[in-house]
Amino acid sequence: MDDFQVDVLVVGAGNAAACAALAARETGASVAMLEAAPEEERGGNSTYTAGAMRVVFHGVEDLVQLYDLTEDEKRDVDFGKYTADEYLDDMGRVTNYRCDPELTDILIGRSFETLKWMRTKGVRFQPSYGRQAFKVNGKYKFWGGLAVEAWGGGPGLVDLEHKAAVKAGIPIHYQTAAVSLIEEDGVVRGVIARHKGRKVRIGAKAVVLACGGFESNAEMRTRYLGPTWDLAKVRGTRFNTGAGINMALAIGAKAHGNWSGGHAVGWDMNAPEFGDLEVGDNFQKHSYPLGIMVNANGVRFVDEGADFRNYTYAKYGAVILSQPQQFAWQIFDSKVLDRLRDEYRIKRMTKVRADTIEELAKKLEGVNEEQFLKTIKEWNAAVMTEVPFNPAVKDGRSTRGLAVPKSNWANTIDEPPFEAYAVTCGLTFTFGGLKITNQGEVESTDGPPIPGLFAAGELVGGLFYHNYPGGTGLVSGAVLGKLAGDGAGRYVKDRN
Ligand SMILES: Cc1cc2nc3c(=O)[nH]c(=O)nc-3n(C[C@H](O)[C@H](O)[C@H](O)COP(=O)(O)OP(=O)(O)OC[C@H]3O[C@@H](n4cnc5c(N)ncnc54)[C@H](O)[C@@H]3O)c2cc1C
Repeated sequence: MDDFQVDVLVVGAGNAAACAALAARETGASVAMLEAAPEEERGGNSTYTAGAMRVVFHGVEDLVQLYDLTEDEKRDVDFGKYTADEYLDDMGRVTNYRCDPELTDILIGRSFETLKWMRTKGVRFQPSYGRQAFKVNGKYKFWGGLAVEAWGGGPGLVDLEHKAAVKAGIPIHYQTAAVSLIEEDGVVRGVIARHKGRKVRIGAKAVVLACGGFESNAEMRTRYLGPTWDLAKVRGTRFNTGAGINMALAIGAKAHGNWSGGHAVGWDMNAPEFGDLEVGDNFQKHSYPLGIMVNANGVRFVDEGADFRNYTYAKYGAVILSQPQQFAWQIFDSKVLDRLRDEYRIKRMTKVRADTIEELAKKLEGVNEEQFLKTIKEWNAAVMTEVPFNPAVKDGRSTRGLAVPKSNWANTIDEPPFEAYAVTCGLTFTFGGLKITNQGEVESTDGPPIPGLFAAGELVGGLFYHNYPGGTGLVSGAVLGKLAGDGAGRYVKDRN
């Protein structure tokens, strides 16, 4: 690979990068993308997702602008709606009202139009029946504000985005990792990249950084998230090592957002160090609202039913990491086994099964057996069985008198067979990053934007604090990607 020059250089090749590249190309700029990974691992975390996308919609009439529905589906399925106000409430509530108001407004206000724009580029969407709908009285009902997912999940999304990029004349340079920014007289003029061990100089009139957070960098994780985060598994790509953030900070970019926070979930205890595309996100184990979780001491430690899993899963990884030896077992009995999500039916799992609770206790590796049996006894006595169980709504079927209550979906654990799944913490992405303007420009520590530098996706800080509403990563990547790509394209036009 030789040195080259382009109008807009996009660093990264995930969802945010692809949207940035396509938007920049629409302005008439020449565009290229750099991907640190080889082609078979392209697309960063976006490829690892199941493709859930949180978007404002007011009913079927909006959804049919995103995907095709049969007349039967339009009539018989309760898709509900998800208004801008509900989105704002969710963002506010889960981030303790810390989310950046301007960025949040952009995310919410442009979510639907951005997905419609993606569809014009060839991206396809579908209803998320598998994970976001329960059948109640023979009828599908969607819950938790999520009714849209990318067709083919993350791999389908990235595949169609890359096809759209190639069609638009945007080359994607694989195994080419940006190492530093070229800055002359305070203006960004390109990047130095590494391609198969060789340094390459790529000149650009504008650079969009869309190369992920620092989740795959154990040193930065420990430095910013804190002790034991070096021990967490990484759910997705091994390539998001914080390079984009570091190269921007090195030329005076402003840090923003929740640098000590990240999105982390319950993840198979024996999953590999980084994600595995053959398994995708199926190492996650997200049916804990239907059961209980116990730690090595044999005790419960969190309200498994505090809210729909969409609003708790992203913070419970950290809770599991803080348990003794960083693991927990999820426990279910036969009453709920057929409701467990599809990730509970894969081959590579740390799972045990037993016909009695005593036998189960013996099989829970690393758990205090005696205390576990006591926990189950107290649990069964505490469940408010008089309240009907309904997994499609927050049913208020709670517990009485426990030190750690469960607020919804409490069921006794007394009907064999019993199943248990061991989980540890799987880090998805980090929340801290760069500060951007409402045009996607990277702000400097002294105030004004750094000329020629734009950013999108995970490495933008300020949207998420403490927690995250499921399906927002892809949509924020798309919205901010389009914003930054458009901003970069217009910046180049203005300077020509
Ligand atoms: C298992 C899993 C499941 C998820 N499920 C969902 C979901 O269903 N819905 C949802 O909304 N979100 C989900 N997320 C979160 C979502 O993946 C991210 O929020 C989103 O994909 C981030 O997009 P991005 O483009 O910013 O980053 P990425 O998609 O990670 O892209 C970053 C890109 O930069 C490249 N790169 C890194 N460093 C360099 C460098 N120095 N030079 C060049 N390239 C570089 C990477 O290789 C990659 O191509 C999930 C994440 C994981 C890991």
